[in-house]
Amino acid sequence: MLAAEYSDVIVVGSGPCGAIAARTLVHLGVQVTMMDAGNPVRGLVMRAGGHTIVQWRDGATLRNDRHVATGDPNTSWYSSPASGGLSNHWSAAVLRMSPEEFINGEALDERFRWPITYDDLAPYYDLVEETLAPSGGPPSRGLPASKITHPVVVPNDWSETIRCASDRNYGMGVLPMALGKRWMAASRPPAFNSYHSVVRPMLGHPRFTLLRNAVAVRIDHGSGDASLEYLDRATGELRVLRSRAIVVAAGALDSAALLLRSTSPDFPTGLGNSGGLVGKYLHDHPRQWFNATLARPMTLLSHPLYIAPAQRCDSNPMAASILTLHSPRRLSGNALLNRLDIRTKAEALIARRSDTLSVQTFATMIPQEECCVRLMKEPGPRDDPMNDTLEINLHFDQSTPKVLAKARDRFADALDAGGVRAMPIGPFEEPRPGLSAHYGGTVRMHDDPSFGVLDRWNRVHDAPNVIVCDSSCFTTGPAKHPTLTAMAIAARAASKLARDLGAATQA
Ligand SMILES: Cc1cc2nc3c(=O)[nH]c(=O)nc-3n(C[C@H](O)[C@H](O)[C@H](O)COP(=O)(O)OP(=O)(O)OC[C@H]3O[C@@H](n4cnc5c(N)ncnc54)[C@H](O)[C@@H]3O)c2cc1C
Repeated sequence: MLAAEYSDVIVVGSGPCGAIAARTLVHLGVQVTMMDAGNPVRGLVMRAGGHTIVQWRDGATLRNDRHVATGDPNTSWYSSPASGGLSNHWSAAVLRMSPEEFINGEALDERFRWPITYDDLAPYYDLVEETLAPSGGPPSRGLPASKITHPVVVPNDWSETIRCASDRNYGMGVLPMALGKRWMAASRPPAFNSYHSVVRPMLGHPRFTLLRNAVAVRIDHGSGDASLEYLDRATGELRVLRSRAIVVAAGALDSAALLLRSTSPDFPTGLGNSGGLVGKYLHDHPRQWFNATLARPMTLLSHPLYIAPAQRCDSNPMAASILTLHSPRRLSGNALLNRLDIRTKAEALIARRSDTLSVQTFATMIPQEECCVRLMKEPGPRDDPMNDTLEINLHFDQSTPKVLAKARDRFADALDAGGVRAMPIGPFEEPRPGLSAHYGGTVRMHDDPSFGVLDRWNRVHDAPNVIVCDSSCFTTGPAKHPTLTAMAIAARAASKLARDLGAATQA
């Protein structure tokens, strides 16, 4: 093993959360070494007049072979051990959670009380949106205003539907998405991916170092400094990096696994795991796609719309869902054409109409202690965590089909309120855990250490110079795409860390 190197702060992971945390720290005068398990991903994106014409990414970097499912046997776990993580493969929908979504859980159980509020995050939502430069529209009920960079023009018939549905209190609008500039051609995966958009511009900065192909194996937490053992995958060497603080943002499952691997005499079952909570309360959104027929043809949507979660009116304040409305996908026998989906895009471009719509629902699940991620075996000192198999116990409960059926009814009611009769067409696919790839909860935040691993600044209660700031910190899983909120939390945690380290503000 080589002698230890030193950095003020180590950031593990270059996905959206690690990237924004690292950039915040560097801007606030902190010296950062980021390590990532992989390399940049190849891709191509072309946009014309606000329409994505071509989008290709190297799918080989998306893995679903790193786990054994012990709950629902159909559980998936998608990870991307590459620079930029899952943002190489994401759809880039970036919705703010509403103030109520942070407090709905506490009415059900103390365990579901978030230690932060919407107002705590609002300035960081603003900051992150400046980076994401979303395309979108005005706010509506259930979706707070975003900082929209590229306003989307909605076809007239749909804009009338949105207006009428919103008048009847169905929050409906343009889905905010980080799709890039209106005109662009670039050799990268999606227009916004955290490697090309955030990390690469920092390369060469005197306070920033990126270690590629470097896998964090174990954190050794001391009372002053913390050190991290990592595997240099190019040479097979195990190395050590010392620092004042470590920021873990490796994705909800890999972050938990890293803490569980970090055993020591002080933490015999894993770093921060004195309460036995690391890895537990894993959640994902039950997801369902369905088609619907419309009583009259409507203009094909070149940019998706959304219908926000219903107002709280249920006995279960956490039973909610969001719907997104898309042009119907037409699949051909050619996999490449399906991937590019050129025919649908071309038809949307020339404003053709259709009496069919594709709709996606994301619903909530109530986090359960038994849903968890665990290490399958005691790790050997030289084992590459990217080749380890994790045990994932995840399942939805009996209420899920009811929540999804209610979502379909709400879709039909909202469109009806907007003047369009719509009929969802069955049979409806069974939701499968992990398909949304909206994992969270495994290193949860709570003011009370008996209910959470992290405090309100994402510091491990037992080891405050270790910060975990990805969606693993979510106390509950509100029915919104999680990444924007996770990035805002990461920016907030990093700002606090920089203040705590006494770093000088960037000149
Ligand atoms: C098909 C698809 C579509 C999606 N669409 C959306 C969407 O529209 N909106 C939305 O909000 N979310 C979406 N998501 C989810 C979104 O991609 C993730 O929420 C987001 O990328 C998580 O960011 P992260 O930084 O926490 O982790 P990740 O993006 O998972 O990145 C983790 C990083 O950590 C690195 N890493 C892991 N372990 C180690 C280790 N031990 N040592 C060193 N490095 C390590 C990995 O290499 C990776 O770079 C989608 C996901 C998929 C798969």
